[in-house]
Amino acid sequence: MGKKNISLLIPAYNEAGNISALIQEITTALAACQRYEFTVLFVDDGSTDNTLSILQEAAVPDFPIRVIKLSRNFGKEMALTAGLQSLNCDAVIILDSDLQHPPKYIPQLLEKWQEGYDIVSTTRQKIDDQSWTRRIGSRLFYSILNTISEFKMEPGTTDFRLLDRVVIDALKKFTERNRLFRGLIDWMGFQKTTIKFDAPARLSGQQRYSYSRLFRLALNGFMSFSLMPLKLAGYLGVSVILIFGGLLTFMLVDKFGSNAFGFSNIAFIIVSNVIMNGVVLGCIGLVA
Ligand code: UDP
Ligand code: MG
Repeated sequence: MGKKNISLLIPAYNEAGNISALIQEITTALAACQRYEFTVLFVDDGSTDNTLSILQEAAVPDFPIRVIKLSRNFGKEMALTAGLQSLNCDAVIILDSDLQHPPKYIPQLLEKWQEGYDIVSTTRQKIDDQSWTRRIGSRLFYSILNTISEFKMEPGTTDFRLLDRVVIDALKKFTERNRLFRGLIDWMGFQKTTIKFDAPARLSGQQRYSYSRLFRLALNGFMSFSLMPLKLAGYLGVSVILIFGGLLTFMLVDKFGSNAFGFSNIAFIIVSNVIMNGVVLGCIGLVA
């Protein structure tokens, strides 16, 4: 039987300062995994520095290096999606190009895969250079997501993972454009296990995700994995109907009774209109 094919999938956006050190560390890590055949696939996510030319010229004797170039910067989630679509291997290991997902853990990921797991995830025990705002933001994201969504995502999980071919094939069937990759993987099921690792500081450059991009990513996560926002609209609708329905009843009783308040016709129209809006919101909740 031939050796199993493993691909490393690595998104890169303006990572010129990290590529050669990364390839070096991968070479060292893979030297300990002689029973597998490796291909390293970089996805250049529309870099504006010389990442692409460094990648195209990179060559090592131990494994082939392939490069996919995206036509512009699409973001990491889409870069991973593009890379996965082009894979035909027994398993893929996804890692970042800034060395925050240290290649030295690759043998451990492969060991777990050999034990029969389809997904081997990783959780960070500590991150060397994470600011307190990002740390709090990350905690907040997981606690909100885990409160409102139908499934649980473990805090601290990363995209540094191994996926078996069955998982890759399942992932290829998803067509969402706005996706939270690791959320999708967690949602899908399969046999999974997790290993822990320490994330060092980024080797070179700044984090590529600004706060506004992280916020959008979080919002995508909430909307993809929870019906709660739609259900909230429904609850709001029901509350509006109850409160303003009560008010309208009171106004009608007053008008045809003592007429102490003397509500004008405009007041009736406005209150009826608000109730109709409540009905629309309530229907959205029903659809959800
Ligand atoms: N990345 C990408 N496209 C982007 C932003 C980031 O391909 O638009 C890559 C980046 O090159 C790195 C990985 O995604 O390999 C993680 O990015 P970063 O280190 O900025 O994120 P963090 O460490 O905060 O998760
Ligand atoms: Mg990073």
